[in-house]
Amino acid sequence: LGPEYSFMIRVAIPGGRLSPEQYLTLDRLADELGNTTLRFTTRQAIQYHGVRKGGLKPLIRTLNRHLLTTLSACGDVVRNIVACPAPFVDRQRIELMQYAKALSDRLKPKTRAYYEIWLDGEKAASLEEDEPLYGATYLPRKFKIAFAFPGDNCVDVYTQDIGIVPWIEESLQGFTILVGGGLGQSHGVKETHPALAKPLTTVAPAQLFEVVEAIVKVQRDHGRRDDRKLARMKYLVESWGIERFKAEVERYVGYALPEPRPLTWLSADDHLGWHEQGDGRLFFGLFVENGRVRDHLRAAIRDVVQRFGLEVRLTPQQNILFVNIQPADRAAIEAIFRQYDVALPGTIPLVVQNALACPALPTCGLAITESERVMPQVIRDMNALLDRLGLHDGPVPHVRMTGCPNGCARPYTAEIGLVGRSLNSYTIYLGGSPLGTRLGEVYLDNVKREEIVARLEPILLLYQRERNPGESFGDFCHRLGSATLQHLAGQNE
Ligand code: SF4
Repeated sequence: LGPEYSFMIRVAIPGGRLSPEQYLTLDRLADELGNTTLRFTTRQAIQYHGVRKGGLKPLIRTLNRHLLTTLSACGDVVRNIVACPAPFVDRQRIELMQYAKALSDRLKPKTRAYYEIWLDGEKAASLEEDEPLYGATYLPRKFKIAFAFPGDNCVDVYTQDIGIVPWIEESLQGFTILVGGGLGQSHGVKETHPALAKPLTTVAPAQLFEVVEAIVKVQRDHGRRDDRKLARMKYLVESWGIERFKAEVERYVGYALPEPRPLTWLSADDHLGWHEQGDGRLFFGLFVENGRVRDHLRAAIRDVVQRFGLEVRLTPQQNILFVNIQPADRAAIEAIFRQYDVALPGTIPLVVQNALACPALPTCGLAITESERVMPQVIRDMNALLDRLGLHDGPVPHVRMTGCPNGCARPYTAEIGLVGRSLNSYTIYLGGSPLGTRLGEVYLDNVKREEIVARLEPILLLYQRERNPGESFGDFCHRLGSATLQHLAGQNE
């Protein structure tokens, strides 16, 4: 007998938007071909884990029949395009989701080989003669794009290769484009580091797609291909500087790009709980701990989608929104969740609700440490500490954990970031902003998982005593400054 291979399959879902039929198909496939769970990701995608080799083709074919695809959910291409999922029914919000879908379609590889291999398009693996954007060698590295709504940074727009923010005055006037964000780094390679995107320009709506495509081409043609660890666009933007990068994009589009308009941010919350959409209907955001949908939670979501025929939207914080709800159905929907013993927003400790963890062990081949499987305990220990210090009512810190420095759950913009370092040990980052506009910095290295909360207690105690009214933990750590943080860390060794 040979080895029994199993695979992770990721479904690309632009803006995380799914019709009820699509969601119910994805749910059914988890039983038929997956490991009975769905995993919502920070890019509004869905992962299946434990798919057997023989299940790959039926799974991909079924997805395709429901207008879903795995194409460019992975690989050195533009990945799943993220967009603020809140379905407020003002015109601009609807356009935002439509822009995300249209841009996603435009930037998909034109390959026939994918269809031939997975969908029985006869001839297997054609040589691609017409791949106008990606050419023969695709991009140097993965490429991430997100649309944020003005003032609402729930998508973590500064962590993307390209961040896009509409400029709205009465109606849509244009888009501000940011470039060069990205969180991955490699332990022991000092040139690698997380970076926030920088403002490049603000363009008219009609120019958006060609400017975005030009940026992708600049990275395609000039991004480093000699070293994968330095191949993300952030290193190109950094080595050239934003002015030279902009000049090159201007050369590709053939016209000058205006200065970027300033951006302001008011919130980065994930739209959990009940909200009015603005058209007489409601939407409801349900907390999904670490994006893992299984057992009674899976059954409850399925039941609600089935009974009420609701469109859903996955969020960049691994939760789910149910949209277009009639106000008369609100009580019945809540009753279903209670019947399945699913905790509703408002009953969940805030620090738990704000936390993110990547999948890591045992399903991610790059994982050094646990993340998703241990975060529930770590975050509840943290909640107990906040309780004891009288800090549980907020603002409570956003805590994010990953099993390696790749940073999929965006730990470097969190107020407390926990990054897998070596066997059962983590690097603790402090000082990110709750609005996602600032990177944290290393506070302690190589902290055993069981010691994480205890090692944070002294700085949380200081925060309890010395914070300004309303000051977040991340802002407090930033105000203390590197020297003080390092001094405190030294006392804490
Ligand atoms: Fe895997 Fe690392 Fe990403 Fe976690 S951060 S999912 S361990 S690659």
